[in-house]
Amino acid sequence: MPDPESERVQVTSELITGIAELTTNEPGRQRMDDAALVIENGIIAWVGSSKNAPAADSAKDLDGCAVLPGWVDSHSHMVFAGDRTEEFEARLAGKKYSAGGINSTVEATRAATDDQLTTTLLRLRREALNDGTTWMETKTGYGLDVEHELRSARIASEVVDEVTFLGAHVVPRGVDADEYVALVTGPMLSAVRPYVQWMDVFAERGAFDADQSRAVLAAGKAAGLGLRVHGNQLGTGPGVQLAVEFGAASVDHCNHLAAADIDALASSDVVATLLPACDLCTREPFAPARDLLDAGATIALASNCNPGTSYTTSMAFAVTTAVLQMGLTIDEAIWAATKGGATALGRAEGSDAIGSLVVGARADLQVIAAPSVTHFAYRPGVRLTEAVWKSGVPV
Ligand SMILES: [Zn+2]
Repeated sequence: MPDPESERVQVTSELITGIAELTTNEPGRQRMDDAALVIENGIIAWVGSSKNAPAADSAKDLDGCAVLPGWVDSHSHMVFAGDRTEEFEARLAGKKYSAGGINSTVEATRAATDDQLTTTLLRLRREALNDGTTWMETKTGYGLDVEHELRSARIASEVVDEVTFLGAHVVPRGVDADEYVALVTGPMLSAVRPYVQWMDVFAERGAFDADQSRAVLAAGKAAGLGLRVHGNQLGTGPGVQLAVEFGAASVDHCNHLAAADIDALASSDVVATLLPACDLCTREPFAPARDLLDAGATIALASNCNPGTSYTTSMAFAVTTAVLQMGLTIDEAIWAATKGGATALGRAEGSDAIGSLVVGARADLQVIAAPSVTHFAYRPGVRLTEAVWKSGVPV
């Protein structure tokens, strides 16, 4: 008979050794070779060279794998129903993407049951977790009336780590734009407020103009929400400048930037969140990642998982693309997909920080079947994530 007392003994610290390469994201020491770390109650308690590793209650040897923070995916739209394969095929045949395609997902989402929406969301969240994403934001924005935006926000809050209200995704068919902005900033915002941390607006041709976007951001700020902006995806526009004006945490897409936009981002704390899978799937030019970094702006990489323009949860794919096609170094791309995402969500610093593996941070990490994160670019398309830990617990 096992002794019931000993079964209750809790492991409080665990030493991880045999790490060929550890990405910590610590400034000045982003990666270190032949490392070890200690996890205590879900938090990183010690990081250093394996030869200096302290004793712990238990130990695990990773036998030469690389370890890096779990991906932090700060941009997705995963509360939806329906399928846009036909629209995708039409784009492949030469049709240009426009913001209006969102309306077809709105119809399918309104017609779906709660269970259908939850099942799809859980499937995508699990898919992302298996590929190393330990923290994930998702947005509403396929309901576009009070009842369905509220439902989307509630379902999202039950599955993902943080939720963004994107009632201002597109003006629904048959609705006056100014009346719709009044609805979003009034009754709709009040309804979703208990379930969301962020407010977002699609400040784009075919969606919301500068004045309408300003009204949305002002309402979100007044409601105490953090702000995010979809901007400069389909052409130059007011998105970046609005994000800077309102002190948004992030402006996302950033494909078409004027020199003044790059300057504004470089001299502000607004993160430019780049979505390379979306750029590939819409056959639009990549965001100028190199120019942004060289100017001194902070960038994040995210999946933009959504049924229309980027139906992938793979952050590794974003990293691979950023390195091979957007001119980023491995370290820049890995940072952008981990600590960059955490910065875009305001969670990169302080106790319980995510996106880095330094003392005091959450032990959200992934173990890859390779000796170095360079393999994300060196072996494109190969699934490398072998184990994922969230708060120090294998999942
Ligand atoms: Zn988006």
